[in-house]
Amino acid sequence: MFPASRIFMEDPKSEGSDEESLGASNELGDVHLDMPFSASGVKTGLFSTTSVHELLECPVCTNSMYPPIHQCPNGHTLCSNCKLRVHNQCPTCRHELGNIRCLALEKVAGSLELPCKHQAMGCAGIFLYYEKLKHEQSCRFRPYNCPYAGSECPITGGIPTIVTHLKNDHKVDMHDGCTFNHRYVKANPHEVENATWMLTVFNCFGEHFCLHFEAFLLGMAPVYMAFLRFMGEDEEAKKFSYSLEVGGSGRKLVWQGVPRSIRDGHKKVRDSHDGLIIHRNMAVFFSGGNRQELKLRVTGRIWKEE
Ligand SMILES: [Zn+2]
Ligand SMILES: [Zn+2]
Ligand SMILES: [Zn+2]
Ligand SMILES: [Zn+2]
Repeated sequence: MFPASRIFMEDPKSEGSDEESLGASNELGDVHLDMPFSASGVKTGLFSTTSVHELLECPVCTNSMYPPIHQCPNGHTLCSNCKLRVHNQCPTCRHELGNIRCLALEKVAGSLELPCKHQAMGCAGIFLYYEKLKHEQSCRFRPYNCPYAGSECPITGGIPTIVTHLKNDHKVDMHDGCTFNHRYVKANPHEVENATWMLTVFNCFGEHFCLHFEAFLLGMAPVYMAFLRFMGEDEEAKKFSYSLEVGGSGRKLVWQGVPRSIRDGHKKVRDSHDGLIIHRNMAVFFSGGNRQELKLRVTGRIWKEE
C-alpha cells in the first residue's frame, strides 16, 4: 500500500546514494516533486520522506511542527510555541515575523507516512504524520516507567532493562517460581509510612511480576496492603490470576485477583484498593505475641487462566 515507506524501513542504507544522485537541493520548493509516492517515484520518495521530515522539525526547538506552522516573509519556518517566544522576530534572519502561516508545509505533512518512533523496540506501525504522535503515546512498545514506588525514579525502558535496574539499583529481591511464602517482620507496627515497604519480583511463565507490600492510611485507619503487578501490557496481565493469604490464631484473609499492568501507576492501583488489605489491628492480631512486633506470613500463588 505504501511502497515508499516500506522500502524506507527495510533498507534505510540506500538513503545516502539517493541523496547524491538527487543533488544537494532539499528546499521546500522541491517537495511536491517527490509526493505522493508513485510507483515510478519510489526511490525519490525514499529520499523525500527523510528530508520532509527534517523540514518538519522546528529549526528553533527541534520538536516536530504541527499546524499552525508559521513562516517569516523570507520563508523560514518555526513552530507555534516558538513563535510566541521570539517577540515577532525571525530567529533565522531577524526579519519581522508577522503572521504568515505555511499552509503548503502543513498539507505536505498531512500526506506523510512515517514509522513509529519505537520502531527499534519492535513496533512495525506506519502512521500518518498527524496520527503518529497519538499512536506513540499509547504504543505498546513505548518504554515502561520504573515500578518501584516511594521514590521518583526516572529510569524507563523495556522489561529486561527494568528488571535489571530493580535488581541492581533498588536491590529488589528476585524470586523464581509461581508460589511464595513470605514473612514480613517489622519492629514497630505503629509507624505507618506512605511508602513501599517491600517489593519482590517474581519470575514465572517466562514473565515478571511485582509483589508490593506497603503500609498507608486508608482514611483514618492504618492498613497494610499487598498486590501484584504484571510487568507488561494490560491485555497480557489479564491472562493471569493470583491469590494471597495471610492469617494466624485460627483466622485468615484470602484475596484472589488479577494482576494489574505496571502501565497503571502504583498509586492508582493502591487507591483503587485492588489487592489484599489488612487492617493494622488484624495484622497485629495475626502476628500473635506481644503486639510490639509485626510478623505476617503471606502465602501466594500466580497462575495462568486458560
Ligand atoms: Zn519550535
Ligand atoms: Zn526569516
Ligand atoms: Zn508504535
Ligand atoms: Zn527505579
